[in-house]
Amino acid sequence: MGDELTCGSRIDTNSAELGRALTTWGYRTLGSRSVGDEIERIVAAIEEAVAEADVVLVTGGLGPTPDDRTREALAAWSGGALEEDPAVVDWLRELFRQFGRPMAESNRRQAMVPRGMRPILNPAGTAPALVGEREGTLLISLPGVPSEVRAFLGGEVGEVLRAGSGVAPLEVARLLTTGITESKLADLVGELPADPARLAFLPALGGVELVLSAPSAAVLEGARGALRERLGDLVYSEDGERLEEVVGRMLVDAGATVAVAESCTGGLALSRLTDVPGASRYVLEGVVTYSNEAKTRILGVEAETLKAEGAVSEAVARKMAEGVREISGASFGLASTGIAGPAGGTEEKPVGTVWIAIAGGDGTEARRVRIPGDRGVIKFRAAQALIDGLRRLLGRGRSP
Ligand code: ATP
Ligand code: MG
Repeated sequence: MGDELTCGSRIDTNSAELGRALTTWGYRTLGSRSVGDEIERIVAAIEEAVAEADVVLVTGGLGPTPDDRTREALAAWSGGALEEDPAVVDWLRELFRQFGRPMAESNRRQAMVPRGMRPILNPAGTAPALVGEREGTLLISLPGVPSEVRAFLGGEVGEVLRAGSGVAPLEVARLLTTGITESKLADLVGELPADPARLAFLPALGGVELVLSAPSAAVLEGARGALRERLGDLVYSEDGERLEEVVGRMLVDAGATVAVAESCTGGLALSRLTDVPGASRYVLEGVVTYSNEAKTRILGVEAETLKAEGAVSEAVARKMAEGVREISGASFGLASTGIAGPAGGTEEKPVGTVWIAIAGGDGTEARRVRIPGDRGVIKFRAAQALIDGLRRLLGRGRSP
């Protein structure tokens, strides 16, 4: 609920979050909609939803400000007056005492509960959720703030929903892949998995996420095993671990360190590697050598090579990786050089051409990638390819 959604100043992420949770808990979701802050419209939307669904979830509009109208709409819809719940008032007072500030008078609005509904206290904020049952439909109204929605789903509201579906929840696994397109992945996966397991392909910027679901853990594990066998190291994570976390763990296991020399990725690869807590155990340093002069001065790339091959070339990428490995003393030197666009492309080297190189004790590997998309996409995916290159190298047991 809220004008911020219908006017487009906020994107409705709550529906997505709720849809994901409901699906894994065995519900079939019929639909979702956004409604502006008008009581009559909220009431109409609730009536429509209650008429067709067994469970209706509402988010937003439970705050203390006058533009938060869901509470009034619920009372209008149910025909029960709003009454102050003394237990909620006490709870709010205690909460504000802990915050060390007095409770604003407007916060008392959050203790108003339509007769016939019950409040569930908020594990992450001040507005309680409101739960009621009308015409055989369970209605749960949650505050709008996404972190509060999540907290409710992880707490009592989640328990109520899990118990209410009457269907055994689906077992779900998420396999993250990178460096392969959706269509190539589909070819590799082929007829897998067999019924009753199901597979969804969810492409995103960093790669395709495979969501495997099955009615039981045994079926899930069987299907997961078959997928693993087909896909090998295309899958980098099965428990939501990010690529940079996976690589960080592998570097720690190998007792290896890394340094990065970046051109077109502008420091993004190093930034991502250092997003991981404890990265200081394996990240030594990074340089952004954007100009040719910097590539020569800092990394020792010969001016002749730059002139003859161009900055975006295999020879320069290799020399950058070897140069940063040498100056840092790291086990691995990583390098990127490419054309992020929108200008600067040629027929031979179109926008999106990126050379990545990794230097290690066993020599240097270089690879050209061609990334379609705008500047942001090219930078992100070039950094992804570089970090993933190191993951694959470490996975093959290459020595530091
Ligand atoms: P508050 O006490 O913060 O006012 P509330 O229950 O009244 O909570 P809203 O005012 O509707 O909730 O929303 C609070 C904020 O939460 C919004 O400003 C918006 O940033 C975010 N929000 C609300 N609804 C959604 C949604 N469906 N998806 C993502 N974010 C949302
Ligand atoms: Mg609000």
